[in-house]
Amino acid sequence: MKILLNNNDLNEALSKVRNLGFVPTMGSLHKGHISLIKRSKKECNKTIVSIFVNPRQFNNKNDFKRYPRDHKKDLIILKKLNVNFVFIPKIDQIYNSKKITKIKIGKKNQILCAKFREGHFEGVIDVMDRLTALIKPKKIFMGEKDYQQLYLVKKYLNKKYSSKVIKCKTIRDQNGIALSSRNLLLDKKNLLKAGKFVKDLMSLRNKYSNNNNFNKILNLKKKEFSKFYKIKIEYLELRNLNNLKLSKKIKNSKIFVAFYLNKVRLIDNI
Ligand code: AMP
Repeated sequence: MKILLNNNDLNEALSKVRNLGFVPTMGSLHKGHISLIKRSKKECNKTIVSIFVNPRQFNNKNDFKRYPRDHKKDLIILKKLNVNFVFIPKIDQIYNSKKITKIKIGKKNQILCAKFREGHFEGVIDVMDRLTALIKPKKIFMGEKDYQQLYLVKKYLNKKYSSKVIKCKTIRDQNGIALSSRNLLLDKKNLLKAGKFVKDLMSLRNKYSNNNNFNKILNLKKKEFSKFYKIKIEYLELRNLNNLKLSKKIKNSKIFVAFYLNKVRLIDNI
Protein backbone atom coordinates (compact mmCIF):
# COMPACT_ATOMS: atom_id res chain seq x y z
CA MET A 1 0.00 0.00 0.00
CA LYS A 2 1.48 3.34 -1.11
CA ILE A 3 0.82 6.34 1.10
CA LEU A 4 0.77 9.53 -0.98
CA LEU A 5 1.10 12.83 0.85
CA ASN A 6 1.30 15.31 -2.00
CA ASN A 7 0.26 15.89 -5.61
CA ASN A 8 3.67 15.06 -7.10
CA ASP A 9 3.76 11.64 -5.45
CA LEU A 10 0.17 11.10 -6.54
CA ASN A 11 0.87 11.93 -10.19
CA GLU A 12 3.90 9.69 -10.24
CA ALA A 13 2.15 6.75 -8.61
CA LEU A 14 -0.91 6.93 -10.83
CA SER A 15 0.76 7.72 -14.16
CA LYS A 16 0.41 4.20 -15.52
CA VAL A 17 -2.69 3.05 -13.65
CA ARG A 18 -5.79 2.24 -15.67
CA ASN A 19 -9.25 1.32 -14.40
CA LEU A 20 -8.76 3.08 -11.09
CA GLY A 21 -11.47 3.07 -8.41
CA PHE A 22 -11.61 6.05 -6.03
CA VAL A 23 -13.19 6.17 -2.57
CA PRO A 24 -13.19 9.72 -1.15
CA THR A 25 -13.45 9.89 2.65
CA MET A 26 -12.83 12.16 5.61
CA GLY A 27 -11.29 9.29 7.58
CA SER A 28 -12.30 7.70 10.89
CA LEU A 29 -13.13 4.74 8.76
CA HIS A 30 -15.99 2.38 9.60
CA LYS A 31 -17.84 -0.48 7.94
CA GLY A 32 -19.71 1.96 5.67
CA HIS A 33 -16.42 3.14 4.14
CA ILE A 34 -15.15 -0.44 4.05
CA SER A 35 -18.13 -1.56 1.95
CA LEU A 36 -17.32 1.17 -0.62
CA ILE A 37 -13.68 0.09 -0.72
CA LYS A 38 -14.62 -3.58 -1.18
CA ARG A 39 -16.93 -2.64 -4.06
CA SER A 40 -14.14 -0.64 -5.70
CA LYS A 41 -11.72 -3.54 -5.32
CA LYS A 42 -14.26 -5.83 -6.95
CA GLU A 43 -14.97 -3.55 -9.91
CA CYS A 44 -11.59 -1.91 -10.56
CA ASN A 45 -7.97 -3.00 -11.09
CA LYS A 46 -6.61 -0.62 -8.46
CA THR A 47 -8.18 1.32 -5.63
CA ILE A 48 -7.25 4.67 -4.13
CA VAL A 49 -8.77 5.99 -0.90
CA SER A 50 -8.42 9.64 0.06
CA ILE A 51 -8.53 10.91 3.62
CA PHE A 52 -9.13 14.63 3.71
CA VAL A 53 -11.22 16.55 6.24
CA ASN A 54 -12.23 19.33 3.89
CA PRO A 55 -12.48 22.61 5.81
CA ARG A 56 -14.51 24.31 3.06
CA GLN A 57 -17.50 22.03 3.51
CA PHE A 58 -17.92 22.78 7.22
CA ASN A 59 -20.31 25.64 7.81
CA ASN A 60 -19.45 25.47 11.52
CA LYS A 61 -15.86 25.88 12.74
CA ASN A 62 -16.44 23.83 15.88
CA ASP A 63 -17.82 20.95 13.85
CA PHE A 64 -14.61 20.98 11.78
CA LYS A 65 -12.44 21.11 14.89
CA ARG A 66 -14.10 18.24 16.67
CA TYR A 67 -14.59 16.02 13.60
CA PRO A 68 -13.02 12.68 14.63
CA ARG A 69 -9.58 11.99 13.14
CA ASP A 70 -7.51 8.82 13.57
CA HIS A 71 -5.03 8.28 10.73
CA LYS A 72 -3.16 5.53 12.56
CA LYS A 73 -6.24 3.35 12.90
CA ASP A 74 -7.38 4.22 9.36
CA LEU A 75 -4.07 3.07 7.88
CA ILE A 76 -4.27 -0.25 9.72
CA ILE A 77 -7.76 -0.83 8.26
CA LEU A 78 -6.68 0.16 4.75
CA LYS A 79 -3.60 -2.04 4.85
CA LYS A 80 -5.69 -5.02 5.91
CA LEU A 81 -8.03 -4.38 2.98
CA ASN A 82 -5.07 -4.37 0.59
CA VAL A 83 -5.86 -0.95 -0.79
CA ASN A 84 -3.29 0.09 -3.42
CA PHE A 85 -3.02 3.82 -2.66
CA VAL A 86 -3.97 6.15 0.17
CA PHE A 87 -3.96 9.88 -0.57
CA ILE A 88 -3.63 12.06 2.55
CA PRO A 89 -3.09 15.60 1.27
CA LYS A 90 -2.51 18.69 3.37
CA ILE A 91 -4.93 21.56 2.82
CA ASP A 92 -2.51 23.53 0.61
CA GLN A 93 -2.08 20.58 -1.77
CA ILE A 94 -5.79 20.66 -2.58
CA TYR A 95 -6.27 24.41 -2.60
CA ASN A 96 -3.06 25.53 -4.31
CA SER A 97 -4.40 25.75 -7.84
CA LYS A 98 -5.81 28.92 -9.37
CA LYS A 99 -9.14 27.26 -9.97
CA ILE A 100 -11.71 29.81 -11.06
CA THR A 101 -14.91 27.79 -11.47
CA LYS A 102 -17.15 28.95 -8.67
CA ILE A 103 -19.62 26.32 -7.56
CA LYS A 104 -23.20 27.48 -7.15
CA ILE A 105 -26.13 25.40 -5.98
CA GLY A 106 -29.26 26.41 -7.93
CA LYS A 107 -32.39 27.62 -6.16
CA LYS A 108 -34.32 24.40 -6.73
CA ASN A 109 -31.57 22.46 -4.95
CA GLN A 110 -31.58 24.68 -1.87
CA ILE A 111 -33.44 21.99 0.04
CA LEU A 112 -32.70 19.46 2.81
CA CYS A 113 -29.08 19.91 3.99
CA ALA A 114 -28.41 22.66 1.43
CA LYS A 115 -31.05 24.78 3.14
CA PHE A 116 -29.61 24.33 6.62
CA ARG A 117 -25.87 24.15 5.94
CA GLU A 118 -24.93 27.23 3.99
CA GLY A 119 -22.02 26.63 1.64
CA HIS A 120 -21.72 22.95 2.57
CA PHE A 121 -22.40 21.39 -0.83
CA GLU A 122 -20.49 24.13 -2.63
CA GLY A 123 -17.50 22.98 -0.53
CA VAL A 124 -18.17 19.30 -1.19
CA ILE A 125 -18.54 19.74 -4.95
CA ASP A 126 -15.47 21.97 -5.10
CA VAL A 127 -13.26 19.40 -3.35
CA MET A 128 -14.69 16.54 -5.43
CA ASP A 129 -13.97 18.58 -8.58
CA ARG A 130 -10.36 19.09 -7.45
CA LEU A 131 -9.84 15.48 -6.36
CA THR A 132 -11.34 14.08 -9.56
CA ALA A 133 -9.13 16.35 -11.70
CA LEU A 134 -6.07 15.14 -9.78
CA ILE A 135 -6.86 11.44 -9.55
CA LYS A 136 -8.75 10.89 -12.84
CA PRO A 137 -10.48 7.71 -11.64
CA LYS A 138 -12.62 5.49 -13.81
CA LYS A 139 -15.17 5.07 -11.04
CA ILE A 140 -15.93 6.99 -7.84
CA PHE A 141 -17.71 5.09 -5.07
CA MET A 142 -20.06 7.08 -2.85
CA GLY A 143 -22.59 6.17 -0.18
CA GLU A 144 -26.34 6.44 -0.46
CA LYS A 145 -26.33 7.48 3.19
CA ASP A 146 -25.40 10.98 2.04
CA TYR A 147 -27.96 10.89 -0.75
CA GLN A 148 -28.14 14.60 -1.51
CA GLN A 149 -24.34 14.76 -1.67
CA LEU A 150 -24.27 11.80 -4.07
CA TYR A 151 -27.04 13.37 -6.18
CA LEU A 152 -25.37 16.79 -6.48
CA VAL A 153 -21.80 15.52 -6.94
CA LYS A 154 -22.90 13.03 -9.60
CA LYS A 155 -24.76 15.74 -11.50
CA TYR A 156 -21.77 18.07 -11.42
CA LEU A 157 -19.04 15.53 -12.23
CA ASN A 158 -21.07 13.91 -15.04
CA LYS A 159 -20.95 17.17 -16.98
CA LYS A 160 -17.20 17.64 -16.60
CA TYR A 161 -15.46 14.26 -16.36
CA SER A 162 -15.70 10.75 -17.78
CA SER A 163 -15.42 9.28 -14.25
CA LYS A 164 -18.57 7.41 -13.25
CA VAL A 165 -20.10 7.92 -9.80
CA ILE A 166 -21.31 4.62 -8.33
CA LYS A 167 -24.04 4.60 -5.68
CA CYS A 168 -23.36 2.22 -2.76
CA LYS A 169 -25.93 1.11 -0.22
CA THR A 170 -26.07 2.34 3.38
CA ILE A 171 -24.48 0.14 6.04
CA ARG A 172 -26.20 0.19 9.44
CA ASP A 173 -25.32 -1.10 12.89
CA GLN A 174 -27.49 -3.61 14.77
CA ASN A 175 -29.63 -0.80 16.21
CA GLY A 176 -30.57 0.39 12.75
CA ILE A 177 -28.55 3.60 12.85
CA ALA A 178 -26.52 4.34 9.71
CA LEU A 179 -22.80 4.08 10.43
CA SER A 180 -21.15 7.49 10.50
CA SER A 181 -17.85 8.86 11.79
CA ARG A 182 -19.95 11.32 13.78
CA ASN A 183 -21.47 8.43 15.79
CA LEU A 184 -18.15 8.39 17.67
CA LEU A 185 -19.24 11.66 19.26
CA LEU A 186 -22.34 10.06 20.80
CA ASP A 187 -22.64 8.13 24.05
CA LYS A 188 -24.41 4.76 24.24
CA LYS A 189 -27.69 6.25 25.42
CA ASN A 190 -27.91 8.60 22.46
CA LEU A 191 -26.84 5.92 20.00
CA LEU A 192 -29.72 3.74 21.22
CA LYS A 193 -32.10 6.67 20.97
CA ALA A 194 -31.03 7.38 17.39
CA GLY A 195 -31.48 3.70 16.54
CA LYS A 196 -35.01 3.68 17.95
CA PHE A 197 -35.94 6.80 16.05
CA VAL A 198 -34.65 5.35 12.77
CA LYS A 199 -36.57 2.12 13.41
CA ASP A 200 -39.73 4.17 14.03
CA LEU A 201 -39.24 5.80 10.64
CA MET A 202 -38.80 2.40 9.01
CA SER A 203 -42.05 1.17 10.61
CA LEU A 204 -43.85 4.32 9.53
CA ARG A 205 -42.71 3.76 5.97
CA ASN A 206 -44.00 0.18 6.02
CA LYS A 207 -47.28 1.05 7.71
CA TYR A 208 -48.21 3.74 5.21
CA SER A 209 -46.65 2.24 2.09
CA ASN A 210 -49.90 2.75 0.13
CA ASN A 211 -50.82 6.14 1.52
CA ASN A 212 -51.35 8.97 -0.98
CA ASN A 213 -50.34 11.83 1.27
CA PHE A 214 -47.44 10.53 3.28
CA ASN A 215 -45.75 13.91 3.59
CA LYS A 216 -48.71 15.19 5.56
CA ILE A 217 -48.31 12.29 8.00
CA LEU A 218 -44.60 13.10 8.31
CA ASN A 219 -45.39 16.72 9.16
CA LEU A 220 -47.55 15.60 12.07
CA LYS A 221 -45.07 12.95 13.14
CA LYS A 222 -42.20 15.45 13.16
CA LYS A 223 -43.72 17.23 16.15
CA GLU A 224 -44.58 13.94 17.86
CA PHE A 225 -41.06 12.50 17.48
CA SER A 226 -39.38 15.73 18.62
CA LYS A 227 -41.41 15.72 21.78
CA PHE A 228 -41.11 12.00 22.48
CA TYR A 229 -37.36 11.69 21.89
CA LYS A 230 -36.57 15.26 23.01
CA ILE A 231 -34.59 15.87 19.85
CA LYS A 232 -34.39 18.74 17.42
CA ILE A 233 -35.51 17.54 14.01
CA GLU A 234 -34.25 19.86 11.28
CA TYR A 235 -36.19 18.24 8.47
CA LEU A 236 -38.32 15.16 7.96
CA GLU A 237 -39.57 14.90 4.40
CA LEU A 238 -40.50 12.40 1.76
CA ARG A 239 -38.64 13.11 -1.46
CA ASN A 240 -38.44 11.52 -4.90
CA LEU A 241 -35.11 9.80 -5.48
CA ASN A 242 -34.82 10.86 -9.12
CA ASN A 243 -35.20 14.61 -8.68
CA LEU A 244 -35.37 15.17 -4.89
CA LYS A 245 -38.75 16.91 -5.24
CA LEU A 246 -41.24 16.60 -2.39
CA SER A 247 -43.26 13.48 -2.85
CA LYS A 248 -46.65 12.29 -1.60
CA LYS A 249 -46.24 8.59 -2.29
CA ILE A 250 -43.57 6.23 -1.05
CA LYS A 251 -42.90 4.69 -4.48
CA ASN A 252 -39.48 5.85 -5.81
CA SER A 253 -39.14 8.01 -2.70
CA LYS A 254 -37.40 8.02 0.65
CA ILE A 255 -37.85 9.70 4.01
CA PHE A 256 -35.03 12.23 4.46
CA VAL A 257 -34.17 13.23 7.98
CA ALA A 258 -31.67 15.45 9.80
CA PHE A 259 -31.71 15.69 13.58
CA TYR A 260 -29.59 16.76 16.51
CA LEU A 261 -28.61 14.56 19.41
CA ASN A 262 -26.55 16.28 22.05
CA LYS A 263 -25.37 18.91 19.52
CA VAL A 264 -24.31 16.17 17.08
CA ARG A 265 -26.09 16.45 13.73
CA LEU A 266 -27.06 13.17 12.09
CA ILE A 267 -28.65 12.55 8.69
CA ASP A 268 -30.28 9.53 7.13
CA ASN A 269 -32.66 8.46 4.40
CA ILE A 270 -35.06 5.58 4.82
P1 AMP B 1 -17.30 10.60 4.90
O1 AMP B 1 -16.00 10.07 5.38
O2 AMP B 1 -18.33 10.70 5.97
O3 AMP B 1 -17.15 11.87 4.09
O4 AMP B 1 -17.87 9.52 3.90
C1 AMP B 1 -17.14 9.05 2.80
C2 AMP B 1 -18.04 8.22 1.93
O5 AMP B 1 -18.54 7.12 2.69
C3 AMP B 1 -19.27 9.00 1.42
O6 AMP B 1 -19.52 8.64 0.08
C4 AMP B 1 -20.36 8.51 2.33
O7 AMP B 1 -21.64 8.58 1.76
C5 AMP B 1 -19.95 7.07 2.57
N1 AMP B 1 -20.56 6.54 3.79
C6 AMP B 1 -20.56 7.10 5.02
N2 AMP B 1 -21.27 6.36 5.89
C7 AMP B 1 -21.76 5.31 5.18
C8 AMP B 1 -22.59 4.20 5.52
N3 AMP B 1 -23.06 4.01 6.74
N4 AMP B 1 -22.87 3.30 4.54
C9 AMP B 1 -22.39 3.48 3.28
N5 AMP B 1 -21.61 4.51 2.91
C10 AMP B 1 -21.30 5.42 3.83
